[in-house]
Amino acid sequence: MSRRRQIYEGKAKILYEGPEPGTLIQYFKDDATAFNAQKKGTIQGKGVINNRISEYVFTRLNHIGVPNHFIRRLNMREQLVRQVEIIPIEVVVRNVAAGSISKRLGIPEGEPLPHTLIEYYYKDDALGDPMIAEEHIACFGWATNEEMQDIAAMAIRVNDFMCGMFAAINIRLVDFKLEFGRIWDGDYSRVILADEISPDGCRLWDMHTGEKLDKDRFRRDLGGEEEAYQEVARRLGLLQDDNGPSEVLDLSKHRKLRGK
Ligand code: C5P
Repeated sequence: MSRRRQIYEGKAKILYEGPEPGTLIQYFKDDATAFNAQKKGTIQGKGVINNRISEYVFTRLNHIGVPNHFIRRLNMREQLVRQVEIIPIEVVVRNVAAGSISKRLGIPEGEPLPHTLIEYYYKDDALGDPMIAEEHIACFGWATNEEMQDIAAMAIRVNDFMCGMFAAINIRLVDFKLEFGRIWDGDYSRVILADEISPDGCRLWDMHTGEKLDKDRFRRDLGGEEEAYQEVARRLGLLQDDNGPSEVLDLSKHRKLRGK
């Protein structure tokens, strides 16, 4: 039996060659990293939940006309996506001060920002993903001005949509990170949303209690990260309430629990 070809392994995902040209299989791991991979661990069942949450969000974004790489979910941990040429920029959208902006500018965490901010970071682990200005992006040719206009417009649409989606389940969308990629059609290219949208790359706070339902639980050693991710999935209607976390159990573990 031939093994499929691995294209890339990142911190939380693996990309394999897809069944057709121009497609990839995106596999979601349980591995978690923080602070540029200085802190490493696993969040049990995270890959399964992030696969579902990302499917849910990308499918809906597609419905409202935000082009993205998602094609379909294949199984518990994998989804079929379009192959893109990743633009080496992390796009961070912020509604409320938290994390690095609070640290950098001394704005208390939880303070709503006067208006939504978009920030850009250069994707380079060795450099620790430094923050950059749009000027750098054009200057070094990472993306054209036209592509950056499309990216900013899509980021705002994603934010508007997700603020509403999460507010409906009593979650405050504090901030999140997006990645974009280029797809080519002959000599022409266009930019689409890529990567994933999940509690790994979003700050999600319970609207009433302020409880963190995202990767900050892992980053800040708060504990309960499995439960927090499950809670987001449950509120989105992706897990059954009565059976608890049955859908996130690994089959081998499940069998052992049942003594089979
Ligand atoms: O750390 P910082 O406050 O800049 O993060 C802003 C948002 O972007 C957070 O939701 C965080 O989860 C996300 N992010 C990410 N990957 C990075 C940096 C930030 O998902 N490499």
